[in-house]
Amino acid sequence: EPAIEVTKLSFSYKDGTRALDRCSVTVERGTKVAILGPNGSGKSTLLLHFNGIHLVQQGTVRVLGKTVNQHNEQWLRSKVGLVFQDPDDQIFSGTVWEDVAFGPVNQGLRGEELEAKVRQALRFVNMEQYGHKVPYHLSYGQKKRVAIAGVLAMDPDIIVLDEPVAFLDPAGKRALFELLNRLNRQGKTIVTATHDVDLAARWADKVIILCRGRVLTQGEPALLTDKT
Ligand code: ADP
Ligand code: ADP
Repeated sequence: EPAIEVTKLSFSYKDGTRALDRCSVTVERGTKVAILGPNGSGKSTLLLHFNGIHLVQQGTVRVLGKTVNQHNEQWLRSKVGLVFQDPDDQIFSGTVWEDVAFGPVNQGLRGEELEAKVRQALRFVNMEQYGHKVPYHLSYGQKKRVAIAGVLAMDPDIIVLDEPVAFLDPAGKRALFELLNRLNRQGKTIVTATHDVDLAARWADKVIILCRGRVLTQGEPALLTDKT
């Protein structure tokens, strides 16, 4: 079964804004998928359903073959790691090391196992030397990598990123997408929201284009270049 299968998902915010309107999308296992669309088209709202931050109001979300509901939230969060657009929204601890350790500690990891997990995650994002640092003092790009390490330390099958390269310079963007490719080669499914059409066309196996809360089209990245 697919990594993620969304069927006729609709979602309205408390103020009545209908952010998603009968969206149906499929993310196959082991693929790299880019979700495109202008600001306000519903990308974040859709992503926030993938790990249970938004509860399903109408329609269904299936992850790794299981229908998402209030009862399997914990399972869901162990399978789907979400990297927020703004790393300041997910980095809370006093040091980088503690921050990356937060998830695994919650999962019950201690001692050498925990040490190894955190070290490995920090090494993967090339931040091994920064464990003792205060996250507040890091650059934006470094914070972003710490946030990703925190997600990797939980070893999710699916990694979801909201605008991962916003505010990064061109070299930072390339480095981040290379990192995502390495994760994908290790078997992770990667879903990322972006409004960088060129990058999506080159990087993704599949693109999903949202417009005003609806799925405009989804398929091969060639969709993006054929039309221009
Ligand atoms: P995108 O990620 O593509 O920029 P969003 O999912 O953030 O789009 O937003 C989709 C729609 O929902 C927009 O009209 C946006 O203004 C609205 N929206 C987003 N968050 C909220 C919120 N907390 N309360 C009310 N409306 C919201
Ligand atoms: P890097 O480690 O990737 O070089 P920098 O701190 O140099 O990160 O930031 C790269 C770009 O992101 C710069 O143009 C900077 O102005 C911008 N930036 C840095 N921090 C933030 C932030 N918190 N919000 C928005 N933009 C930021």
